[in-house]
Amino acid sequence: MTFEMQPEINLETNYYKILNIRNLTESTFVLQLPATRFKFEAGQHISLSVLGDFQSREYSIYSAEDAENLEILVKEVDGGYFTPKLKNLKNGDILEIHGPFGRFSLDKSKLETHRHIFIATGTGIAPFRSMIMSNPGLNYQLIHGVRLGNEAYEREFYDSERYLLCTSRDDSGDYRGRLTGYLRETEFDKNSSFYLCGNSDMVFDAMEILKSRGFGRKDINVEVYF
Ligand SMILES: Cc1cc2nc3c(=O)[nH]c(=O)nc-3n(C[C@H](O)[C@H](O)[C@H](O)COP(=O)(O)OP(=O)(O)OC[C@H]3O[C@@H](n4cnc5c(N)ncnc54)[C@H](O)[C@@H]3O)c2cc1C
Repeated sequence: MTFEMQPEINLETNYYKILNIRNLTESTFVLQLPATRFKFEAGQHISLSVLGDFQSREYSIYSAEDAENLEILVKEVDGGYFTPKLKNLKNGDILEIHGPFGRFSLDKSKLETHRHIFIATGTGIAPFRSMIMSNPGLNYQLIHGVRLGNEAYEREFYDSERYLLCTSRDDSGDYRGRLTGYLRETEFDKNSSFYLCGNSDMVFDAMEILKSRGFGRKDINVEVYF
């Protein structure tokens, strides 16, 4: 039996050169890569590795579906394996990407009928930026939980009326305290569709709070980072 290479399978297409690095805080940055050769749905993630390294990690796509460049938002984790390597990269360095993966995307049947409540901790805001930028006019409320106000990553992208910052360690947020504290004190319309993204503690606590308000599993979509 002869094996014929399928023309559409070209390993080279997985390699991307870094075009630009945007530093947002001392530890958080946006990596900008050329537009992808794959189609993705806002909310999906990619698997990333550094050329020559066998390890890979998942990153949500931060940019819009039709954006000129692909962006990801990364926070360097103290003592982490992969993110300190990403932090040391320079323009022109090569990354290997696989994907897109995942089903964390907007429920199209609710686009016109529901208010989309996006609930994120830290870099968990990434898929929501992609969803918001990919869907102009979307009816959304973005609730972002961070420790300090300088972690309100690029909040100028969002409609100021729709972005709410919860800061647990300083007073610069719209709400002082944990995001889950804000959720406990807030009423949501029954036509709300929830999307949760970030660390597992927040995601599970938030799910419990929403369930206690009568929202069911079909109203709540989750993406857990760690
Ligand atoms: C679907 C998906 C999408 C993701 N998207 C993003 C994204 O858009 N941006 C992003 O920065 N990360 C994202 N992550 C997390 C990312 O894949 C890595 O886990 C993270 O970058 C840490 O990698 P590391 O090798 O430096 O740490 P590791 O060596 O793998 O882990 C070290 C420790 O840090 C913990 N940890 C992991 N992430 C964090 C964090 N953000 N803050 C504090 N502790 C952490 C781990 O649980 C572990 O205990 C995503 C994860 C998943 C599953």
